[in-house]
Amino acid sequence: MIRKEILNASPEQMENVSGIVTEIERYAIHDGPGIRTLLFLKGCPLRCKWCCNPETQQGYVEMIFFEEKCIKCDRCLNACPYGAIAYSDEKMVVNKSVCKKNCFGRTQHFPCTINCYTKARRVAGELITVSQAFMEISRDISFYEATGGGVTLSGGEPMMQAEFAYALLRTCKENWINTAMETSASGSLKDYKEILPYLDVLFVDLKSTNPTLYAEWTQYNGNDALAVIHELSEMAEKYITQMYIRVPVIPGFNDTQQDIREIGCFIKEKCRGFKGIELLPYHKLGRGKYKSLGLHYELNKLEPPSEEHMDEYSKILLNMGISIYKF
Ligand code: SF4
Ligand code: SF4
Repeated sequence: MIRKEILNASPEQMENVSGIVTEIERYAIHDGPGIRTLLFLKGCPLRCKWCCNPETQQGYVEMIFFEEKCIKCDRCLNACPYGAIAYSDEKMVVNKSVCKKNCFGRTQHFPCTINCYTKARRVAGELITVSQAFMEISRDISFYEATGGGVTLSGGEPMMQAEFAYALLRTCKENWINTAMETSASGSLKDYKEILPYLDVLFVDLKSTNPTLYAEWTQYNGNDALAVIHELSEMAEKYITQMYIRVPVIPGFNDTQQDIREIGCFIKEKCRGFKGIELLPYHKLGRGKYKSLGLHYELNKLEPPSEEHMDEYSKILLNMGISIYKF
């Protein structure tokens, strides 16, 4: 929950609010209008099985290991003061519980990553202040002005760091920078209410209208998600925020014509203030990151939906009078 002192903070005080980001990507063109700077905030409660950014799921700074880049120089093994790294059957293994106890969540650089010259072992996440983030964002103001672009908060789920999101979006708005945020509708309504006045564009995920499936494929309650999406559409209308619904199309989860029709019906019935839908086909990018985090990827056999199917789904929604967007 965003604290009162943050809501009442002066612009100078807001500059010191800090958050954890995994990446700041410049010149992004698929996450809102124009050329944008995209910030990936760490922390997400959903853990969707198809997530392509698993390094943003945990809300803390952690160490990540890309085995294919490792040249077995043993620098990391020797640098770890806690003995967390060892060989087992010639394979380098890490005792993550030791890392969690001693390093994860701390913001200084982890000893094991400092001299890894191939960057096989690296830190995922960095604590930065609003002032530092804004300095990076403002490097591209001329591009935003020329293209109608701006800044987009992504993740992870930005609402898991609602104070940082609020302070950064407000700072950007007060400096006339266009703002957007991507959310899975898992934040608190009170926080959304504070943030929406500083948002020009809001992308909300609607994964399914079936709460049972929602619960099977994510760790979030589908009923809660649908209720929040409805409330967000009301707020978007009130605060003149352009709201787009994003539907990740995942084979076996929500990719039948009936699924898409039900999503269309829900939107028409419950989302007054929305502008249109963007359908996002499942893709395989990000699979490799699971191994680097020591996680299991469950959808290895899944293939992306064909273009024909995606066109079919777009037509179903268009026939229902729903606008389709593609950023
Ligand atoms: S320092 Fe990097 S390259 Fe060397 S063994 Fe460790 S992970 Fe591999
Ligand atoms: S994260 Fe910390 S405990 Fe884990 S291997 Fe690196 S230095 Fe050791």
